Amino acid sequence: MQIIRDVPALRKAMAELRKEGRGIAFVPTMGALHAGHLALVAEAKRRAAHVVASIFVNPAQFGPNEDLSTYPRQEAADAAMLQEAGCAILWAPDAAAMYPEGHGTKVSVAGVSEGLDGAARPGHFDGVALVVTKLFNQVQPDLALFGEKDYQQLAVIRRMVRDLDMPIEIVGVPTQRDADGLALSSRNAYLSPEERTAARALPRALGEAATAIREGGHVREALDAATAKLRQAGFDPIDYVSLCDAETLQPVDSLDRPARLLAAAKIGRTRLIDNLSVLPS
Ligand code: AMP
Repeated sequence: MQIIRDVPALRKAMAELRKEGRGIAFVPTMGALHAGHLALVAEAKRRAAHVVASIFVNPAQFGPNEDLSTYPRQEAADAAMLQEAGCAILWAPDAAAMYPEGHGTKVSVAGVSEGLDGAARPGHFDGVALVVTKLFNQVQPDLALFGEKDYQQLAVIRRMVRDLDMPIEIVGVPTQRDADGLALSSRNAYLSPEERTAARALPRALGEAATAIREGGHVREALDAATAKLRQAGFDPIDYVSLCDAETLQPVDSLDRPARLLAAAKIGRTRLIDNLSVLPS
């Protein structure tokens, strides 16, 4: 596996890979890799001859009071995992290579970016849309894989790729979870043992609400019950527990189309997100 840190070297390496044909799949990450990321790489390997992964902790998607400076960084361990998983190239630019002096372009996806995490984290999805656009232009993959764990991010990227006619297939990969149901996340490393135990309430509360809604229960009541369970487990604040149209992420109050149940809440100082599919029967 080649580790590449500047755009000209990446272009050269990509041109070589492309000569071989047979498809290039791309897995963008912020590092601190776990089995969730590796599921994306495994799916990428099933779908394409070559897999390129990136590690870039993108300053543009962190708010001023968020965890940019403390975000876990472990590039050597990450590189070993990606090599073992069969990646051909690790694209690992630094902030100066990604955003050289004078960088002034913005990318913004209206609608699907605006609610949920878009409301709780102003500017976050503009930062995501910008870096993903740049990564796509740098790598020029045939397909790119994103986790359903960050469901709104996946919806924003699908919208952006359609809106901007980007010739890239977007593949969503189901959320990988620990045995007790908690979605794997690099941020789980911040949890104390007590918080880690309490965090189980998040997938559990969502699972119970999803079942109640699927069985015809009142949506508002199911969301309120889930919120109460999170509060009881110690989550505070709870940014949202919401049932939304699975594509547009507009809130829905009945299950008359494919929907997604999404939540974000803090336990201690760690903000966790999770979501589940809720399909009408
Ligand atoms: P991150 O490093 O957090 O930016 O995540 C990089 C990619 O991995 C994103 O597409 C995430 O949605 C995906 N990802 C992170 N955690 C999981 C998980 N538990 N299951 C599936 N995909 C995940």
